[in-house]
Amino acid sequence: MFPGLPKHHLPSRCAVCHSWPRPQLCASCLERFAGARPRCARCALTRTQVGDAPCPDCRDWALEACHAAVDYAFPWNELLTAFKFQRQSGYSELFAGLLLRDAGVRALLGDLGSDDVLMPLPLSAQRLAERGFNQAWELARSLHRLSGCKAQLQTRLLLRTRHTLAQSQLDRAQRLANVRDAFLTEPLAPDCVRGRAVVLVDDVMTSGATLNAAAQSLLQAGAKGVQALVVARTPS
Ligand SMILES: [Zn+2]
Ligand SMILES: [Zn+2]
Repeated sequence: MFPGLPKHHLPSRCAVCHSWPRPQLCASCLERFAGARPRCARCALTRTQVGDAPCPDCRDWALEACHAAVDYAFPWNELLTAFKFQRQSGYSELFAGLLLRDAGVRALLGDLGSDDVLMPLPLSAQRLAERGFNQAWELARSLHRLSGCKAQLQTRLLLRTRHTLAQSQLDRAQRLANVRDAFLTEPLAPDCVRGRAVVLVDDVMTSGATLNAAAQSLLQAGAKGVQALVVARTPS
């Protein structure tokens, strides 16, 4: 496990190899652990070549597209775990920067207009209380700031109505059942996403069931389309 990232070590020490003086992620670690890989445009699973048709599993998803910076594997899994439990802006900037290396991510955020919405995937009230902050909020905020995107950063339009079990402990069928009806758009702002493009932000995509359930709620509320940005995708 990597120790935390003390603020005074940022940005002079690489978060992965700890060599210094280096940027937050040094060039050799980026090359070694974060090389660009072809991914399914819809579910972000790695594919053998760019432009492959969407995989059979994601053909019917509500989510239109998803970008992932890296696979959920060493060293990112350890850094993401540390991020989840420590509220440090250094982490969210590091991960936002990792996503923004991808020209597709920059184009997606750059194309959003001032009516469109960038929103973190919410936690349930119970999980938020346990953890004290939502890492997806921090990430969305850093992405919004570093990209200069014009979309509205909204953290209250999507509600997590039920406390769900941790997806990582469930199989596929259980995951789908676990998140069904878990999201609702803000009833006090009924037209909040109508006709708008929405980009959801989360740290990790496991099966995609949670992001898809959120996308479904947003489409039902009239969103024009829903895409997602995640730092890491669990490999198949
Ligand atoms: Zn390094
Ligand atoms: Zn796919």
